Amino acid sequence: QQPHLPPARLLNATELVSHWTVVFEKRGIPEARESSEYIVAHVLGAKTFQSLRPGLWTQPLTPWQLQYVQELSSYRLQRMPVQYILGEWDFQGLSLKMAPPVFIPRPETEELVEWVLEEVTQGPHVVGAQGGPLILEVGCGSGAISLSLLSKLPQSRVIAVDKGEAAICLAHENAQRLRLQDRIRIIPFDVTLEGSWAHLLPWGPVDLVVSNPPYVFHRDMEKLAPEILSYEDPLALDGGEEGMDIITHILALAPRLLKDAGSIFLEVDSRHPELVGSWLQSQPDLSLNLVAVRRDFCGRPRFLHIRRCGP
Ligand code: GLN
Repeated sequence: QQPHLPPARLLNATELVSHWTVVFEKRGIPEARESSEYIVAHVLGAKTFQSLRPGLWTQPLTPWQLQYVQELSSYRLQRMPVQYILGEWDFQGLSLKMAPPVFIPRPETEELVEWVLEEVTQGPHVVGAQGGPLILEVGCGSGAISLSLLSKLPQSRVIAVDKGEAAICLAHENAQRLRLQDRIRIIPFDVTLEGSWAHLLPWGPVDLVVSNPPYVFHRDMEKLAPEILSYEDPLALDGGEEGMDIITHILALAPRLLKDAGSIFLEVDSRHPELVGSWLQSQPDLSLNLVAVRRDFCGRPRFLHIRRCGP
């Protein structure tokens, strides 16, 4: 039974996209057209509908292909994010495998990566000058940030940690898939648990800590889209009462892992620059200074550069 398909006639790609766009719109599925375009393109072996050979737009799909589109679209009707449906997603030009419940990298996180790259390659303090920077990523998820830094900084090495087992496995897979496994150590680790962190330093103290931690204010969790709430690991999102639980753990731990004058780059909520600034002032022993705040493409202050100013 195929309740959503019109009468038995082989549709072409353009007709199929229009058909599923209407079905998705009627069911209130966000980004109806984009979703159907991604699904149809994927079934035809392309990444985007626009990149399909124009000949394929009007060629009828085979019954098997129609069936496959139907199946993938039924996941979208259940609000599954398109990244999980396709099983892969591009980040900073890298194709990464995606699988629930591992956090899907967001477009604004590409801006965090670009900022780190700018600082490393042309910042006033060139970090890790000899041999390229040594980087620690806290909460690596699928490995998006770590792997894109590795691919753009050929001399760099990364320690990537996450507390989620699924994330650790997926980050490993992505590192292999991109042949970057030799310059990355992926380690299960929970920053909120007291305990040994010495094993995070197989190559000694790091030049940079980078993280897109869970920072959603707990009371805002229920406002997240069903795509997020039903499929992504809440541990990658929920930052506690003021979204600061993991951020403060990272900041408290970082000085023990960072070289003198090392830097921390964080993605945060737009309310956090102020909150983190005052928290740091209340913790002078950490010797950390908030040195710069950057805005995202929507103009919200979302990225922090914190520097260790040495004892
Ligand atoms: N901005 C993210 C969202 O889409 C939250 C990301 C995070 O907590 N790291 O919900």
